Amino acid sequence: MIDQSSQPVLDVSNVSVRFGSLMACSDISLSVRAGEVLGIVGESGSGKSTLLRCIGGYSRPDSGSVRVLSREGGAVDLWRADEVARMQLRQAELSLVHQNPRDGLLMHISAGGNIVEPLMAGGERHYEKLLSTAEDWLAKVELPTGRLKSVPAEFSGGMQKRLQIARSLVTRPRLLLMDEPTGGLDVSVQARLLDLLRQLVRELKIAAIVVTHDLAVARVLAQRLVVMKDGEVVETGLTDQILEDPQHPYTQLLVGAALRI
Ligand code: ADP
Ligand code: MG
Repeated sequence: MIDQSSQPVLDVSNVSVRFGSLMACSDISLSVRAGEVLGIVGESGSGKSTLLRCIGGYSRPDSGSVRVLSREGGAVDLWRADEVARMQLRQAELSLVHQNPRDGLLMHISAGGNIVEPLMAGGERHYEKLLSTAEDWLAKVELPTGRLKSVPAEFSGGMQKRLQIARSLVTRPRLLLMDEPTGGLDVSVQARLLDLLRQLVRELKIAAIVVTHDLAVARVLAQRLVVMKDGEVVETGLTDQILEDPQHPYTQLLVGAALRI
């Protein structure tokens, strides 16, 4: 359930990113509340990943603010905080599931090691506890516990995505950020992964942002949508509303194309 009463978990205000003469993100504002999944949709090149990297603390916007609710209760401006505070927020509150597994996994460390590494970085050293946490999370993301010692390079794309999700959620972040979570996967694998994500978000009661070019993915996961085109937000609203009655010509085009598939 979306908690309307409390402070937003994330408040993005007037974020702009420029690459040379290209405005990859232009004056973007959005917010996400506890229990809510927000979809950011748009065609390839519309600036979705750039925006998500700013939100996740990976690249600094040229202007604007990204305010994140910290465990202590107050909102912290990610890009005005110092490097250490930003790293801590990144570890504890915001987890990014990268589009490319190689950006989100330690490819030469075991699956179990990948899952518990964020806990170890936070100071946890109790071996038995780490082992049982790794086993629990392997089961939660429906990977065979027998694969605890395998390295991610031996996993399929779908399994690597599951492993990234376990690694992202192990610290119980308040906000999960996912970049094209089903990208590059077979259709049957996509459907199972979407089921799993929906279930985890509900069970853990966290907020999430899902970035996708695929409206079908957004429809399954997100209650609310932000539609981006050429670095700008062209439409926002409830997912059902946008899919039934898109207002902007670009959104009408996206919805029309999704319905034809
Ligand atoms: P999306 O995720 O929606 O496909 P991106 O955020 O990856 O879009 O890219 C938005 C635009 O910014 C594209 O035109 C892309 O080529 C450009 N872009 C992204 N990253 C860089 C970069 N590091 N340097 C220069 N241009 C970039
Ligand atoms: Mg992208």
